[in-house]
Amino acid sequence: MIGLVAVTAGGRAAAASLREVWPSDVHLIELPNGSDALRDAWRNCDAIVSFLAVGATVRVLAPLLGDKTTDPPVVCVDEAREFAVAVLGGHHGANTLAHRVSAVLGCRPVITTASDQANLTPLDSFGADLGFTVQNPEMLASVGAAVLSGTPVRLENPGGWPIPPLPGNVTEVREQAAPARISPAPEEWGAPSPGQDRVRVPPTGSGAGGQVLIGISDEEGVPDGALVYRPKSLVVGVGSARGVAAEEIEALIDEALAGFSPGSVRALATIDLKADEAGIVEVARRRGWELLTFTAEVLDQVSVPNPSTVVRAEVGTGSVAEASALAASESLGSLGLLVCEKRKSRNATVAVARMRPRGRLSIVGLGPGARDLLTPRATAALRRAAVVVGLDQYVDQVRDLLAPGTRVVASGLGQEEERARQAVAEAAAGQAVALIGSGDAGVYAMASPALEFADRSIDVEGVPGITAAVAASSLLGAPLGHDHAYISLSDLHTPWQVIERRVRAAAEGDFTVCFYNPRSRQRDWQLPESLKILGERRPPETPVGLVRNATRADQTMTITTLGQLDVSVVDMFTVVIVGSSRSRTIHGRFVTPRGYRWNGSS
Ligand code: SAH
Repeated sequence: MIGLVAVTAGGRAAAASLREVWPSDVHLIELPNGSDALRDAWRNCDAIVSFLAVGATVRVLAPLLGDKTTDPPVVCVDEAREFAVAVLGGHHGANTLAHRVSAVLGCRPVITTASDQANLTPLDSFGADLGFTVQNPEMLASVGAAVLSGTPVRLENPGGWPIPPLPGNVTEVREQAAPARISPAPEEWGAPSPGQDRVRVPPTGSGAGGQVLIGISDEEGVPDGALVYRPKSLVVGVGSARGVAAEEIEALIDEALAGFSPGSVRALATIDLKADEAGIVEVARRRGWELLTFTAEVLDQVSVPNPSTVVRAEVGTGSVAEASALAASESLGSLGLLVCEKRKSRNATVAVARMRPRGRLSIVGLGPGARDLLTPRATAALRRAAVVVGLDQYVDQVRDLLAPGTRVVASGLGQEEERARQAVAEAAAGQAVALIGSGDAGVYAMASPALEFADRSIDVEGVPGITAAVAASSLLGAPLGHDHAYISLSDLHTPWQVIERRVRAAAEGDFTVCFYNPRSRQRDWQLPESLKILGERRPPETPVGLVRNATRADQTMTITTLGQLDVSVVDMFTVVIVGSSRSRTIHGRFVTPRGYRWNGSS
């Protein structure tokens, strides 16, 4: 229950607005004296929103302050409803409450705790985008407090999940992903079992090492004092005779999952012939697992340890349980490894596969320069990345957005291929990587080399950015209103003959042309040569726009004509847009008309 304390008419009106939207969560303390009301709320409520001044509130509550983990969080809202200030218990609900109150009252949350300003990922949603669930939410508060207060925390991520960045006091430990557990296997901590080439070590809970522990694990058992996340990493494959009982399958699944957390099961998989097998459908329903089915043809392609000729003769594949567990892993986008080979009961077979997490590569365009032209999606991708790879000047442009603990791999001009390789290698090693570039990272930029090196083992996401030509176009007017071509005049990667052929084709096709990399000190003749070629097919009055450092602090912009252009002002920070034969200057704005009219109709 949130206690509301208000004494003025304005405060009461604001309190009434909160009551309207959260009728069952808030309670207005009806006492004539503000101090009494505050003290009453302190004793009886889980949180307080005070419509008294911060000073007045603090003076009344100061003698009552105890422990921040048990005191109710306090938010103060000013009379003008401009601010909701998280005054006490920021990390224990006040920051969140300040945001919630602000959303209702239309004011601004004022948050002064360090970690929130620093964009730390909150633990309750940690890994949510990877499908993690929290095994023991009661640990969130104490482990969260340790993470935020700078206490050393050990985070065990043996599966190698591409988790978000972590602050410096959290040490991530990645071991080799566990190899197949050949079952039935005696699972003694520390005792290698036949077929195991990794010795499992007992988890070091806070009980063991005195250190706070966070674990990401699909294996049973939660060390004392640890906060445990369950990744959705397991797929159960099942095969059966007609008419099998759900109970028989469930018993077999429980046996096969011994040592694993049922909370880590992502799906149940079988052959399409069994898609309507009542027992199997019932198990999926009871456990809340998605049921995935595969044809005999697909299953027969999967190589499995225990194929059966009898089964193949019956259904056309040598394996149902093992093959469908592996096929499902692959269809869910990940390589599967059998952690429990086929087990049989009278009428059913079950096998379990574990999916290997895939690293992530986000290829992020930062836009032309201005911060407000960086998209919210790009910002989110930067904050989510544990490793950011890019040209040093672009990294500097966004450094303030990166979450604490983000590893930055910055390098200089000319090292594009090296950067692309590094980004892909980090993702292949299971990291969440952002490879950044100015404008759009796919336009004359890092996306192409990166995707030449990347294979199917990583997830790739492109985050588009506003490319230079588009940024320049909106400054110049509407030069791109009809068909246009982008041509880079850099002959670093492209022989001049090829560039020249494209310029001729653009001239022939009467395209508006955007020249990227137009001119440098060493490369000064290509632009005049290109303009000469275009000039053979379009009049000297054709508008030309030059935009240097579009949307950056020192932006400049010129509209001139093909006949009058002075190329000496053009450099590598400039994009040059040459109109088509139909482009015009209208009241000082560069416009390419949208359409061609024909037969008098539009
Ligand atoms: N990926 C970038 C382009 C990289 S090629 C993008 O999508 O914008 C580099 C060339 O882009 C420069 O030589 C220049 O021609 C152009 N360019 C990039 N940013 C620019 C800006 N802010 N203003 C003008 N031109 C720019």
